[in-house]
Amino acid sequence: MTATSALSNIASALLSGQITVVDLSAPLGPETPLIYLPPQIGKNTPPVKVHSISHYDQDGPFWSWNWLELGEHSGTHFDAPVHWITGKDYADGTTDTIPVKNFVAPVNVIDISQETAANHDFLLTPDHVKAWEARHGRIEPGSWVLLRSDWYKRNGSTETFLNADENGPHSPGPTAEAIEYIIAQGAIGWGTETVGTDAGSAGGMNPPFPAHNLMHKANRYGLASLVNLDKLPPKGAILIAAPLKFVNGTGSPVRALALVPA
Ligand code: MN
Repeated sequence: MTATSALSNIASALLSGQITVVDLSAPLGPETPLIYLPPQIGKNTPPVKVHSISHYDQDGPFWSWNWLELGEHSGTHFDAPVHWITGKDYADGTTDTIPVKNFVAPVNVIDISQETAANHDFLLTPDHVKAWEARHGRIEPGSWVLLRSDWYKRNGSTETFLNADENGPHSPGPTAEAIEYIIAQGAIGWGTETVGTDAGSAGGMNPPFPAHNLMHKANRYGLASLVNLDKLPPKGAILIAAPLKFVNGTGSPVRALALVPA
């Protein structure tokens, strides 16, 4: 198949509905749940604020527009390598310098929703990933790996989404070894339905926050607070997730989409 006919097949399938578009982003606004860091760890990102400039009124009679107060890491968002100290020196590691081809790529979706329902602190290991590959095929270099946990169903409320008690947050995520394995397979990104790309218990891991530490050290990317991963097949969907082209940006809210066979 030539490249032209491959693309025209996709165009026909989009128009006929054989390929559907799934929304992987949560609503972004003042109610969006944000990560909470205890004061001894660091400062927090402020709530999203929407300020009106005009609304068909004396400040602009025919038009409506707003300006935003918005952390880079708010809601469904992209983590660039420069977000972590281990990835700070990559010349192509900021939101405005990442090669755009990495924003459109095949996805592998690993389902841990049942394990997570039984254990909110469930951790993905290399053996889980290898068992998934034995069933669905290997993680190809250049593809994304997304962790389906169904945690997004808690995304309506900060309390249930962060799921914290006196011992800290309880949410699923990867072990350091699982992240090392998917990096070795050549994955360019790692995405989750939780508030960040790491598990709630990740501060106590070695290294702390391995999805951040190791992925960004390897010049790879993250996606957090994804939704609707239960609407994707294990393999066969295409992810489209591009951060805003913030100059020197460490991350950005994204409208993440997946092309999925109907
Ligand atoms: Mn982030």
